[in-house]
Amino acid sequence: MILTNNQRTNTKLLSCLIIGGGISGLIIATQLKRHGIKATILDKGRGIGGRLATRRIRHSSDIEGIFDYGAQHFTVSNLQFQAWVDEWIKQGIVKEWAQGFPTTDGTIEDYNQTYYRGIKSNRSIAKHLAKDLDIHTSTKIIDLKWQENSKWLIQAENGANFAGDILIITAPVPQSLALFDNSEITLTPELRQRLEQVVYHKCIAVLALLEQPSHIPESGGLFLDGNPLSWIASNYKKGISPQGYAVTLHAGSEFSETHWESDNENLVNQLFKAASPWLNSNVIKYQVHRWRYSQPRTVYGEPYLALPEISLIMAGDAFVAPNIEGAVLSGLAAAEYFSSQM
Ligand SMILES: Cc1cc2nc3c(=O)[nH]c(=O)nc-3n(C[C@H](O)[C@H](O)[C@H](O)COP(=O)(O)OP(=O)(O)OC[C@H]3O[C@@H](n4cnc5c(N)ncnc54)[C@H](O)[C@@H]3O)c2cc1C
Repeated sequence: MILTNNQRTNTKLLSCLIIGGGISGLIIATQLKRHGIKATILDKGRGIGGRLATRRIRHSSDIEGIFDYGAQHFTVSNLQFQAWVDEWIKQGIVKEWAQGFPTTDGTIEDYNQTYYRGIKSNRSIAKHLAKDLDIHTSTKIIDLKWQENSKWLIQAENGANFAGDILIITAPVPQSLALFDNSEITLTPELRQRLEQVVYHKCIAVLALLEQPSHIPESGGLFLDGNPLSWIASNYKKGISPQGYAVTLHAGSEFSETHWESDNENLVNQLFKAASPWLNSNVIKYQVHRWRYSQPRTVYGEPYLALPEISLIMAGDAFVAPNIEGAVLSGLAAAEYFSSQM
């Protein structure tokens, strides 16, 4: 990171812009705040959390489904991440969900693996992190300018402008590359090629509010073979949807790719048919969400990318591993790098 002498002696005055209010952006802003650095998060979503996504579907005054429809659960293998999770458990944000999940052949997959979840919902983990941070939602960044005075000036679709000394981007990599192109920011061909190799699975998610309780096993989650469904979960049994039998269905990546352009009715009929042994009910209402970038199929392989000559850092799950733990570890590494430059 190139810091002027003036910046070095006034690190508390340094300002950082973070594009993306998913868990990696939130972790970075939290860590920078601990170092006294002002970070502003800008996210195009109406709410915070990115792929830690939760939505409500109301049917009547007493029936409302609450759905985790992005990340369903998370696991921990790294001690640094475990320390964060232990703290979230102490604060009543997160709890253990299950030791493995059943599969269709009756076995338990990963039976010695602990799966965690947000207590209220998975988005509530993001909301917890966001509490004391400076965040602008509904703010889609469309233009980046690295100026001669070594400051970033970035512009949102709604016309708002933001200036900062350092820019951190945590959007899915193809979206970051599109933003660079739009802003005429040129990367070396080698770097560009490496980033273009980061590709993602698509995932079609269906949120179904049922009339009757489902037959999904008691833990609330079931792994399927991906053809056409890879996962089905009862948010009611999970404990986040007390007033509605809310079921999340995730189509496998092949089905999602093939049916990406299909109309909702067509693909939902196929998915409901495949899920019928576990649904066991009429569907009162449903919604479809298409995740163009659900989980990276390949990762960059270094925990973040820093371009010190233009005070730019890229981070997110695609730099470490295709899951919540990967996103957190990337965020922690990026924040650590930033702090070590001061
Ligand atoms: C269907 C699905 C199932 C999953 N299941 C699991 C699971 O069970 N377990 C697990 O551990 N992980 C799972 N994941 C993966 C996990 O959700 C992600 O790895 C993690 O949430 C990524 O966090 P992130 O901060 O890197 O990215 P994101 O959460 O994608 O955050 C990036 C943010 O950037 C914002 N953004 C992008 N472009 C712009 C722009 N131009 N201007 C402003 N904002 C912008 C987006 O709105 C988004 O909020 C799943 C993901 C999906 C979609």
